[in-house]
Amino acid sequence: MIEAAKQELIRAAQVLAAAGCLPATDGNFSIRLDNNRALITKRGVEKRNLRVDDFTVAHLTDEQPREASTEWQLHRCLYVARSEVNAIMHVHAPHLGAFAALGKLPDINLLIEAEMMLGGMALVPYVEPGTSALGEAAVTHGAASGVLVLARHGIVSVGSSVREAVHRMERAEFLARVELGARLLAR
Ligand SMILES: [Zn+2]
Repeated sequence: MIEAAKQELIRAAQVLAAAGCLPATDGNFSIRLDNNRALITKRGVEKRNLRVDDFTVAHLTDEQPREASTEWQLHRCLYVARSEVNAIMHVHAPHLGAFAALGKLPDINLLIEAEMMLGGMALVPYVEPGTSALGEAAVTHGAASGVLVLARHGIVSVGSSVREAVHRMERAEFLARVELGARLLAR
């Protein structure tokens, strides 16, 4: 099961890297293994070149496992608070990132697929990355949303599967790109 989960996350990272969402060592990915544990990327690795030894298993009670991504608390808080979430993607996407930089959300009503498929979007006010406070803010402000825009930081998508979380991220980034283009056209 763990090996299959690694392969799913490696493929997810390749898709999101191709979309320009993973500069340098940015981003982190996880999948829920059971009620107590999740598989998450290690800190400091290039997500576009993920290998099978770039993951670690962390218990949901662990504050910050040594090898785990520095955003473990973000993942941990979401898994603990939301039983429907089985996969979490965190990236620094260029077009959604423009909205995040200004602390804004794209207009989900601009595209019907976004409205239907994203599971809602929520803006999370700026909180220092890598803190448990960011995880708590993602739970409080994210509510039941499928996509969370972290102000001045990046994007989180969640899903019942890796496939759903990746598709939500791709669709949200596409929505952001379309809105930026549409705003230019409308000037
Ligand atoms: Zn980040």
